[in-house]
Amino acid sequence: MPCPVPCILEEPGAAVPPFLPIPPSSQLPRMLRLKDGLKDGLGRAITYLRVSVTEQCNLACVYCKPRTGVPERSTPPAMSRNEVVRLVKVFTSLGIRKVRLTGGEPLLRRDLETIIAGISPEVEGRVHLTTNGLNLARRARGLRDAGLSGVNISLDAADRGTFEKLTRKDALGKVLAGMEAARAVGLKTKLNAVVLRGWNEDQIVPLARLAMRDGIHVRFIEFMPYLGNGWGRDQFMPATEILQTLHEGLGIKLEEDPALGLEEGPARIFRIPGSDGRVGVISTLSADFCDRCNRVRLTSRGEMKACLFGNQPVDLLEPLRNHASHEDLVHLIRTALTEKLDCHPMRKGDMPRLGQGMWQVGG
Ligand code: SAM
Repeated sequence: MPCPVPCILEEPGAAVPPFLPIPPSSQLPRMLRLKDGLKDGLGRAITYLRVSVTEQCNLACVYCKPRTGVPERSTPPAMSRNEVVRLVKVFTSLGIRKVRLTGGEPLLRRDLETIIAGISPEVEGRVHLTTNGLNLARRARGLRDAGLSGVNISLDAADRGTFEKLTRKDALGKVLAGMEAARAVGLKTKLNAVVLRGWNEDQIVPLARLAMRDGIHVRFIEFMPYLGNGWGRDQFMPATEILQTLHEGLGIKLEEDPALGLEEGPARIFRIPGSDGRVGVISTLSADFCDRCNRVRLTSRGEMKACLFGNQPVDLLEPLRNHASHEDLVHLIRTALTEKLDCHPMRKGDMPRLGQGMWQVGG
C-alpha cells in the first residue's frame, strides 16, 4: 500500500518505497467488541497500557540513546511503587486489559516484583515485561511468582561482537542466560530486534535460526526516529526487505499466521515450517497501524502520553500526590485521550518533534 501522504521515507521525486499491505482480517481487532470502556476522540478502544517504571538503563543502544550531545535530564525521579499501582488501577478501572512494564530498563527496579503483584490481579494476569534481559536470569522465577505472564527480550544480534557494537556492552551471554531462565520458569518469551542497515542486517538470519532452534518468536522492528538517535534513511530497512532477507537467507517459504488481535501487538507473524519458531515484522514506519491503535503510555514520571510520537504529556502524578479523586484522574485521562493523534507525524511527512528519548517515554 503506498504511503497515502508525503512520507519522510521518500526522497522528493523518488519511487515510493515498498509498503506492507495490511491484511484485511487484521482490521477487525477483537477489542472493538467492547461495548463500554476507554475510547479516544476518534472512537478507538484503548485497552493496552505501557508503563515505564524507570528512565535508567544499563545499556546504551545506538538506536535508543543519543549518539551525540543530547542532554539527559538529571536524576530522573520515578514514581514510587504505590504510585505506579494506584495510577495503573485508575486505567484498569476504565477498561485497560493488558499492561506492559518497560523503561529504561525495568529490571533495574528492585521493587518490580511488588509492582507486578499489585497490578496482575487487576488485568487477570495480563502483565508483560520488556527488558534487555541482562538481569533476568536471577529474577525470572520471582517475576513469574509475582504474577508476570510474559517477557519480551530485546536482542538485536546473535553474534557477540555485533551485540557489543549495538548496545555498547559485552553482555550477549547474560541476555541468553536470561532468555533460558525465563523459558525454564514458563514465562511466554519473545525476542525483539531493531534492524539498522549497516549495523545488524547480517543478524536477521542468525536470529531467525535462534528462533527455529529454540522454538521461540523473534520480531524484527523497523528503526524509528527518536530524540538524538541518529535516525537516517540510509539506516532504515523496511519490513518488506527484512522479510525478503529472511526468505532468501533461510531458503524456506514462510507461512503467515492469521492476524492477531492488537493486544498482541501490530506485528505480522510467520511460521517457519519444520520448527515451532516464528519470525515477525513490526513495520511502524512503512505500514500504518494508527487507525487501529489501542495504546496509551505512562512514563516513569507519571505523565500520560496518548501517542508515542506526539501529544503533550499530561501529568497525572502531581494530581495524585495532591489527593485528586478517582473521578478527577479519570477526567484527566479521558480528556487527554480526546486529543490522541489520528496518526503519528511521520505518516504526514514530518519528523516527530520530541522533547524526550525512547528510554524516557518507554519503548
Ligand atoms: N530496556 C528495555 C529493553 O531493552 O527492552 C525496555 C526499554 S526499550 C526502550 C523498549 C523497546 O524499544 C525495545 O524493544 C527496543 O528495541 C525498542 N526501541 C528503542 N529505540 C528504538 C528505535 N529507535 N526504533 C525501534 N525500536 C526501538
